[in-house]
Amino acid sequence: MSGSPTPLNVRQTYPCPLCRRGTLSELTLMEAFGCDVCHHVFAVNASKQSVRVVDRSPPLTWRWNGQRWTVSHRDDVRLSWEAWLAAIAFVLFPTAIVSLAAYIFPPLPGSPFGIFPIFWAVLTFVSHLACVTWLILEYYQVPVLSYLRLRR
Ligand SMILES: [Zn+2]
Repeated sequence: MSGSPTPLNVRQTYPCPLCRRGTLSELTLMEAFGCDVCHHVFAVNASKQSVRVVDRSPPLTWRWNGQRWTVSHRDDVRLSWEAWLAAIAFVLFPTAIVSLAAYIFPPLPGSPFGIFPIFWAVLTFVSHLACVTWLILEYYQVPVLSYLRLRR
C-alpha cells in the first residue's frame, strides 16, 4: 500500500482497519468486504470512500484516504453537558463519600492499616475515572485497542 493514492475499489484487497492483521477482500456478489482474520463484514460506501463494519456494535466507519484507513468521526455525536455533569459526579461523589468516611472515622494511631483509607479513596477515584473514560472512548468510537496493537 504505497505510491500514489488510489480510490477504494471493491475488486482490490486492503488491510483490515479493525483487527489490523487480516486482509479485506470482496465478498462474492456483495458490495462488501470480509476480513480473513476477524471475519467481520464491512459494507462499502463507494461515494464516501468508506467502509462500515455491519456485524458489530457500535458500527465503526473508516474512510479510505487513498493510502490507508482513517477513523471516520461521527459529527452528529456530542455529549450533552448533563452527561458530562453525571460523569464528573460519578467520579467525585463516591470518592467524596469514601474520603469523608476516612476523615470522620480516622484509623487508630499506630494502626498497621493506617494507610488503607487513603489507598481506598485513591482506588475509588481511579476505578470510577477508568469507567467514565472507557464509556467516553466507546461513545466517541476511539478504537484504543487497535491503536495499541498497531504500536506493537
Ligand atoms: Zn480483521
